Amino acid sequence: MRTNFSPAQLADPHLADAEKNLRACVHCGICTATCPTYVLTGDERDGPRGRIVLMQNMLEADAVPSPETVRHLDRCLSCLGCRTACPSGVNYPRLIDTARAHIETQYRRPIGERLLRWLIAQVLTRPDVARMMLRLAKRVSPLSFLLPGRLRAMARKGASLRPSSRAPLALAPAPEAKRIALMPGCVQKALAPQIDDAVARLLARRGFALMPVEGAGCCGSLSHHLGREGEAKAWAKRAIAGFECMGDVEAVLISATGCSAHLKDLPNLFAGDPAWQPRAKRFAAKVKDFAELVSPRGAQRPHRLRVAYHAPCSLQHGLRISGANETLLTAAGFDVLAVPEGHLCCGSAGSYSILQPDLSSALRDRKLANIAVTEPDVIATANIGCLEHLSGGTPIVHVAELLDWAEGGPKPATLHQIARA
Ligand code: SF4
Ligand code: SF4
Repeated sequence: MRTNFSPAQLADPHLADAEKNLRACVHCGICTATCPTYVLTGDERDGPRGRIVLMQNMLEADAVPSPETVRHLDRCLSCLGCRTACPSGVNYPRLIDTARAHIETQYRRPIGERLLRWLIAQVLTRPDVARMMLRLAKRVSPLSFLLPGRLRAMARKGASLRPSSRAPLALAPAPEAKRIALMPGCVQKALAPQIDDAVARLLARRGFALMPVEGAGCCGSLSHHLGREGEAKAWAKRAIAGFECMGDVEAVLISATGCSAHLKDLPNLFAGDPAWQPRAKRFAAKVKDFAELVSPRGAQRPHRLRVAYHAPCSLQHGLRISGANETLLTAAGFDVLAVPEGHLCCGSAGSYSILQPDLSSALRDRKLANIAVTEPDVIATANIGCLEHLSGGTPIVHVAELLDWAEGGPKPATLHQIARA
């Protein structure tokens, strides 16, 4: 596709990268049918090809975007299904990231929207604040009908979650264990610390010890997807500095795939920064997802449960890892069931369920209907966002919790309702 950026614009490394991807798009539309929002609305501007045109017009003009453009770009889940489908190698995430940062600096959102986005960036990224706000949400939820639209959705969402104040289990590492740097994360730490407990036990059985990255917190992906690049960089710098103080480690791990995908992409966040990009590259080279670190192992206690495996978009489209978690579960003795439309996003997508509650709920219902077809005992996934978004019916757990249980660890609390488990 022809582009019309000025030489001054192309001096910006993010715009130069966006331009390269805009030129690579031949507008074939092969990606369109794989886009969850296009599948729901049937509107070309809610599909990748239409969004690419909107982004090109907005970035070339270097002007304040129209509310219409912002509306259709905001509806993108950043699920990256379109990148997997594209035969021309268009790196869609580069485009949408640049577009979001442009919107954040150029477009003035209505006050309620600005407040909501600020709240998401400040609350969900801090486990202690998140726990406090979730407890508050439970108290105000009977009055949530008094709140305006998306704040009401946020209060209801908060009320449906279960905060946990328990600290993650500390395991005494074997002296010869290889060290893995564990990013503490944010939402998962507040809602489900038992996941990292299970990960720690699984890795300890394989000769690895988890050591926390001191000074790190959220990985920054929530801020990044809101277009708040300054905050995303600040979180990333804390993680990189903490990692550099640890000396040699085998890997850097965070047990939520959305966060793994973001951390592996940090060098692009710091494009054009001669001080931080090389440091981000060294850090990102060490980042490994859970599915890459844990080797298959037979069960100590086989549990022949029917497991519907939900592959998070960040794993299959972001990290491009397919089949690894299914292999681990099968080796551990579970019956793994393929979910129809497995490539489609469940609608969680970071803060999307709060910012776009209608589309998010429609995708959730569609995903749960597809899962129900497989008649599972339990749903397994690998990302805290998907796990919370799909909870409430069939029990749902992180893959690590099932594997740990099969290898002799404790039974996941959510499975106590299954009589034969
Ligand atoms: S992004 Fe790829 S698949 Fe989609 S229209 Fe462009 S070239 Fe075709
Ligand atoms: S990232 Fe997902 S929602 Fe966004 S355009 Fe691509 S397929 Fe559609």
